[in-house]
Amino acid sequence: MPTLLPGKLHSTKITSSIEFIQYLESCQGQMDVFITRFPSELQYILSKASSEVLSRLDSYEDDVINSLLDSYQFYRRELGSVPPGVSGWLDLWKILTLIQIARPDWHIKNVSHYSNFGINKSYYYILYSIYQDTMPEIILELVERFFESPLAYFTDRMFSRLLILENSLLLSEEQNLCYKCKTDNQDKKVKFDRIITNFGKSDIYDRWGISRNHVGDIQVVCFKCLQSTVLKSSTHTLTAELQGVI
Ligand SMILES: [Zn+2]
Repeated sequence: MPTLLPGKLHSTKITSSIEFIQYLESCQGQMDVFITRFPSELQYILSKASSEVLSRLDSYEDDVINSLLDSYQFYRRELGSVPPGVSGWLDLWKILTLIQIARPDWHIKNVSHYSNFGINKSYYYILYSIYQDTMPEIILELVERFFESPLAYFTDRMFSRLLILENSLLLSEEQNLCYKCKTDNQDKKVKFDRIITNFGKSDIYDRWGISRNHVGDIQVVCFKCLQSTVLKSSTHTLTAELQGVI
């Protein structure tokens, strides 16, 4: 078993859920720091939820954890296939801790090209951009992957799922596709047309012979917005506030 140091990037691919849990446990100090950033009255709730997430993750088989991590650690294929190691694992634990409070019935879904995570009968996609791609770059690559997969023939709309994003790069406000960041955004969803128009790849329809309706609208929320939701919550409102976002 490779030696795992908290916060360090490793090129060795981890292949068991036990190693995954052990790594997260080694990050307990960093998780504690994360929790202390929130109002003191909420810290017990956050701490309890973080422990519950570890127990839940521990209940999954290796192949389920591996497939989740493979789809969670996002990078554009044109940048190669460098093994991502532990990049983003601690952030996944943090994201799941907030989801645990809002939706304790979450589960890891059999990973597909458009979702890797379920809450009751709804599906979500949690992605960590290991090389800090921009939101439009991530969306466009996801669409490419989707239309290369057999799923494209069976699913009407790719982005009917909420995409929870962490570690994407934001160089301009125009690139920000998070519905929550944009307080002036009346509609929670972003038109895929807008992404195509604003960020190029206008041949995307021609290449796959798809209709615009096939992709549908896109709903993205960034992890920063989940955290800011906690910051403005109280013990009485925390669950409902988070449920309002995810
Ligand atoms: Zn946001």
